[in-house]
Amino acid sequence: MDSDHCPFCHGLLTQDVNTLTKKGLEGIKRASEKRGVDIEVKEGQNIHGKCRGEFTSPHAIHRDLRLKRKREHDDDNKCTSLALYCRAVRLFDILFVLFQACEFTYR
Ligand SMILES: [Zn+2]
Repeated sequence: MDSDHCPFCHGLLTQDVNTLTKKGLEGIKRASEKRGVDIEVKEGQNIHGKCRGEFTSPHAIHRDLRLKRKREHDDDNKCTSLALYCRAVRLFDILFVLFQACEFTYR
């Protein structure tokens, strides 16, 4: 990643530019652990102040993790309804085969 871009939003660093200090870096590392993401930042790197604030804010972390869990939950639900649908189709197939077999028998 070149130094003209913010590592958080990947946008150009034209305004609201902050240079990461050692302390700032530690805050980002802690936040990325909580978020379960890997973000490549190093001391002296330029970032957007707003992006860093958003990334490290406990409130934003909490909200983003909740959104992530919700998305995963929604995906689970999608899989479940798909599985039910497949089972229903399968059941219909079996009934159809049975029906055909009966028809054949009583013809
Ligand atoms: Zn940014």
